[in-house]
Amino acid sequence: MKLEKLVCNSCGAPLEVPESANFVTCNHCSTQLAVNRSASITFTEAVERLTVQAQELNNRVDGLEAQNAVEALDREWEQERRSYVIRTKNRGEHIPTESGAIVDGVFCMIPGVFGISFGTFIVSSGPLHDAKWVFIGFGLLFILWSLAMMHSRRNKAQEFKIAEYQYLNRRAELLQQLDQ
Ligand SMILES: [Zn+2]
Repeated sequence: MKLEKLVCNSCGAPLEVPESANFVTCNHCSTQLAVNRSASITFTEAVERLTVQAQELNNRVDGLEAQNAVEALDREWEQERRSYVIRTKNRGEHIPTESGAIVDGVFCMIPGVFGISFGTFIVSSGPLHDAKWVFIGFGLLFILWSLAMMHSRRNKAQEFKIAEYQYLNRRAELLQQLDQ
């Protein structure tokens, strides 16, 4: 059996190691050593240190995975968020909110209320009094439409809040993994 002359990485004592051995215990300081063989050089390394390095590498890989997951989650969310965006004349593109839905709904009802009032109090007392139902009918339709819109926007606003909450929770979980 051929022996290699190496040096203990921990205490510096000379070692004679069989060429096939991957691990050796130092006679002098009893440190467990791994034998590193590269093309140009062979050296020993304390096993505990290797374990620590492997652990650090593992943590780094875990961290990288968590970081990638956060970035993927952010991209996914950006897309999902866009699906909630609505466009209105006075506010442009925005995410619907519950209070905004109510304000918009009430605002849209104004022509409906006006139509009903006009039909009831003005048209009905004039020569075209039978036409009052046209105004009242349109007014009612307008109000119903406004209510439906208000309702659907409120739902959308609530759905968005839930989705955002879930996204933020998931993100916090991933960031916690990064910190470990
Ligand atoms: Zn030693």
